[in-house]
This record gives sequence, C-alpha cells and structure tokens, in this order.
Amino acid sequence: MRATITRYRMFRFDDRIAVAVSGGKDSLSLLHILARTERRHPKASLVAVIVDEGIKGYRDEALRIAVEACRKLGIEYHVESFKELYGFTLDEIIAQKRQRGELELTSCAYCGVLRRRALNVAALAVRADRIATAHTLDDEVQTALMNIFRGDISRLAKEKPVTDEVHPRLIQKVKPLCEIPERESALYAYVKGIRFQDTPCPYASEALRNDIRALLNTMEEKHAGTKFTVFKAMERIRPALVDVAKNDGFRDCAECGEPASSELCKVCEMIRRMG
Ligand code: SF4
Repeated sequence: MRATITRYRMFRFDDRIAVAVSGGKDSLSLLHILARTERRHPKASLVAVIVDEGIKGYRDEALRIAVEACRKLGIEYHVESFKELYGFTLDEIIAQKRQRGELELTSCAYCGVLRRRALNVAALAVRADRIATAHTLDDEVQTALMNIFRGDISRLAKEKPVTDEVHPRLIQKVKPLCEIPERESALYAYVKGIRFQDTPCPYASEALRNDIRALLNTMEEKHAGTKFTVFKAMERIRPALVDVAKNDGFRDCAECGEPASSELCKVCEMIRRMG
C-alpha cells in the first residue's frame, strides 16, 4: 500500500485525512493501517467519517463496529446520516419507490449518489483535506467494467486512484487500497484480529456489481492476473479520455448550491422526486 500511496502522491505530510469507514473489512483494514502510518507523521491527522444510510438490520450493526474501532484506536469520528441530511433513510426512499412502482433505478443507484454527497458533506464538516476510501483492486476493476457496460464514459474517465480537484467544495478522494486485491485486505483483517461486519447489505443482490464481480472472479481463476491487467489497462486508457471529463464541467446546483453537472444536482433530482 505504501508504494501505491507514493506512486499516486495521495497524501501530503500535514494532511487532515477523512477515512471513509463503513464497518466492513476493507475500510477497517485501511483505518488500522493509516492509524499506524499517521503515528510517524505528527503533522498529519486522521478522522473517520461514517455514513449511516438508514438500512435496518445492516447499517446499525456496521455503525456500532465502526465506532468501536475508532474508540479503540483513539481516532475522532463523525457520523453523517441520510435521515438528517435528506430527511429520509435509504429504507424509506426504497419503500416509497417500490410503492409507486418507480423501479427505473436500483437501490444502489440511489445509495451511491446520496452516499457520495454525504461523505463529502462529512469531510467538509471535519475540515478534511482529503477523503481516503477503501476501494480495493476488485472494486476499481468492477467499477470500470460497470461504467463500460452502462456506456458511462464520463464516469470511466473520472474514476481513478486520486480524483481531480474540480470544484472548491469537492474534497479530493484517494484510494490507497486500489492496487490491493480484496482477498489480501480480508486476510489483513483476519490476521490482525480486526472485528468487522460480514453480513451483506439486503439490497446488494439487485446490483449489477454482483454480476460483474462473479464474472471477474471466474476470469481471475482461469487467467490469473486478469484484475490487475484491467486496472493497468484503465490507467493507460484514461489520459485519452481527458477531453470527455473536461467537457463535463461543474456548476452550482440551482437548488442546494452544491456542485452539479446540470441545473439540478443528482441529489436534488432524487429528493425532488420523493415529493
Ligand atoms: Fe448501498 Fe447498495 Fe452498498 Fe447496500 S449494497 S450499502 S444499497 S451501495
């Protein structure tokens, strides 16, 4: 992981780093590793940011585990909840969508947009310079393929180990585990005896990501190194997509003032549809 951090220049010596902690194995492994690293950099500081989407029987347990880990490590934490930020939990949003028969977007599509904003709001609240997320090699490759399958070239161009600084209110994201296979991050958690949540999200089965994960795991089993090859291929392709990302500039959302790619940001579009 140290080589990845150095290669992509993820941190500065005096950064205040917001670590996105979900309570799962990857984010808790990342928190433990960064906590150890931070001790060697007295001018840097860590704060955990935890998003509570409001998923009954799932996030509540993960939240307890995440908070317990922060307390044990002596790391300050900040919880941002969908309910407080948007007025609805994810469960409430999905229940309403299903009741109205509005099934064009999956639960993860809502969760992804709202969660990204919540993380950014949390990072701004704790005055972080950077958000460190626990996306592993597997996550990165799955995301790249999902963007290709959806034809979303703009996202394909933007999703990278260190996001571009495109708006003063968007905190830069870095992914220190992006070259680490999920298996190794899990192994680290087991070896270090880190307690984490291992029950899957109740909405996960709807996600396209599951199919892509299965496909990639099969490919990796048959052709070892496939995931890393796709990751490296993306690294080489991305510079050619610079113009695609550039044309997709940001403006201020007419409703909330947050960065938006059209008149309304995606969060306001979703909340407006809740009625
Ligand atoms: Fe959100 Fe989907 Fe992940 Fe569940 S599986 S936490 S709904 S993105």
